[in-house]
Amino acid sequence: MNAIDVDDRGVIVACAQCGQGNRLAYERLGALPRCARCAAPLAPPAAPIELENEELFEALVSRSALPVLVDFWAPWCGPCKMVAPEVARVAALGAGRWIVAKVNTEELPAAGMRHSVTAIPLFVLFKAGNEIARHAGALPADGLRRFIEGQLGH
Ligand SMILES: [Zn+2]
Repeated sequence: MNAIDVDDRGVIVACAQCGQGNRLAYERLGALPRCARCAAPLAPPAAPIELENEELFEALVSRSALPVLVDFWAPWCGPCKMVAPEVARVAALGAGRWIVAKVNTEELPAAGMRHSVTAIPLFVLFKAGNEIARHAGALPADGLRRFIEGQLGH
């Protein structure tokens, strides 16, 4: 699976044509950008983004131009592991429409506390920095997609 890098300013995707890493600013994630080197169209993020610290979590959730589905999980959680491929699929299904991010509650306990994560897996949908819905428990990719689309009014 292709890893997607993030930093404090945006999401970094590799150009399929020339391999150049391009940063998509959080605020412009809904745009259809072109590669800075070769001008080929860049594909929007289509895989879950692993958020490795609290700052990246805050930056993505508060500034993303696209809605963000956050999968709160932990390594010891069996259902979380089982649902991981479904989470990856819903990231691909929503490419260009929403972002899927993963938060390991062992590594980012403050994010979990702030959003009252009491049971995992927990899916929280954020739009413009605000939580708009949550679903506790595993769902297949199609169920996750319907959950998101129902909230976004698609
Ligand atoms: Zn390129």
